[in-house]
Amino acid sequence: MREKFKKLNELLLEMQKIESISSLLHWDQETYMPENGGEIRSKEISYLSSLKHQKQVSNEFQNELRKFVNIDNGKILSNEINDNDKRFLDRVWKDFHYENSLPQKFVEDLSELTSQSQMKWIKAKERNDFSLFEPYLKKMVDMKKKEADHYGYSTNRYDALLEQFEPGITTEKLDDLFNGLRSRLIKLIEKIKNSSVKIKRVKGKFDEDSQWELGMKIIKDMGFDLKSGRQDKSAHPFTISFHPSDVRLTTRVHEDNFLSSLFASIHEAGHGIYEQGLLKENFGSPFGQAASFGIHESQSRLWENQIGRSKDFWKKYLPILKDHFPQFDSMDLDEYFKTINVVKPSLIRIEADEVTYSLHIMLRYEIEKMLINEGLAVKDLPKIWNEKMKEYFDIIPDSDANGILQDVHWSMGAFGYFPSYALGNFYAAQFFQKASEEIADFDKKIQKGELLPLKKWLNENVHKYGRKYLPDELIQKVVGSSMSVEPFMEYLESKYGEIYKL
Ligand SMILES: [Zn+2]
Repeated sequence: MREKFKKLNELLLEMQKIESISSLLHWDQETYMPENGGEIRSKEISYLSSLKHQKQVSNEFQNELRKFVNIDNGKILSNEINDNDKRFLDRVWKDFHYENSLPQKFVEDLSELTSQSQMKWIKAKERNDFSLFEPYLKKMVDMKKKEADHYGYSTNRYDALLEQFEPGITTEKLDDLFNGLRSRLIKLIEKIKNSSVKIKRVKGKFDEDSQWELGMKIIKDMGFDLKSGRQDKSAHPFTISFHPSDVRLTTRVHEDNFLSSLFASIHEAGHGIYEQGLLKENFGSPFGQAASFGIHESQSRLWENQIGRSKDFWKKYLPILKDHFPQFDSMDLDEYFKTINVVKPSLIRIEADEVTYSLHIMLRYEIEKMLINEGLAVKDLPKIWNEKMKEYFDIIPDSDANGILQDVHWSMGAFGYFPSYALGNFYAAQFFQKASEEIADFDKKIQKGELLPLKKWLNENVHKYGRKYLPDELIQKVVGSSMSVEPFMEYLESKYGEIYKL
């Protein structure tokens, strides 16, 4: 990095170190921390986050940033600055602006509300009683509207929230993408519903040690570096990074649900390979961070679905699977391929198959827009949720616990986050299409279990840039055109056309 940014980089590195320490505490909390450690741990984590906030808005940091940027509007001051520096300063200013736009009192209130509202959500879900959560969610929605107003936006309030997860994406762009997708997806689901193809489900008990062993083998073959990372168990699988040389994955292992554990491992390793692929020399700089939540999710979904749920991949791994689990002995490749790709409209997003998944996202996206932009009342949410479930899936949830209360994100205040999940699927299909064109004998390589050329391609084309490019710029750079649902729909229509003989 350039000499003139030396001081700025030092300050950024300091904040990154605080962030990494906090991540380590968080990882420990979800994996090995004893039950009674929780109370002091949350105080430690909140201390670190306020320490980081103080550094981010400190006079020292502002004075340094002011040398290059008008900190009120983000305008870069010097003309003699190259594109790289411009991008660097823009990302640094945006992070500063976000923290600085929120009054200290607001940040504290929001943090308190978040921890209360998560506890209330857990209770409400357990008791299937939305009214316990409703007042907290109402406060949360009000605060998120205020947050958007503090941060600023040009035409659409919801855009300010989207920007935090997917820079450059707007409600207008999303409406466009989703409108193109909705009717095609619904048509495909209808055809699948009417197909006469019947698919066997795998049932039984699967030895937990064997599940672990097979998962470890596969993530190693994918190129997840176990000298710069590890895998452990947790209730909800996640990936967290302290540095490209220390990236932690978790998975869950259930004796009676073998596929969920295996695909969780592959998914998280996709995230982990991205984190390991960020350049060490950029640690602390925005260029050493992932491009966006959507780009991150594209990496995990590409490995989980385009690879992990493909016939080519299992050509190599089905015999290995059979060595671990004799239950599959009687299954051939075709049958197994169908088993791991069953399509069935369901109540819960996180259990959804590839085809119905995006509908869950669109449903929630529409409701979020109504809450943030159009004044939808929180008390009406269960009713709206069930109406939309009926419209999209032809299912009415049996309870609010399986309906409006199913997901943790709103209790954490993560409004604007969900579209990243759908975008991840679109980007994954675009990257995958390009990789399969550019890597010689791609299909044959996957059939032989040679996964490293794909990992290297992703390192080279996606990971190494960090946040240098906005998501859509990165897509354009890699595939030569803007973000689009077309490759994703082509992928679904061709794959599920084969499976369900459509
Ligand atoms: Zn993920």
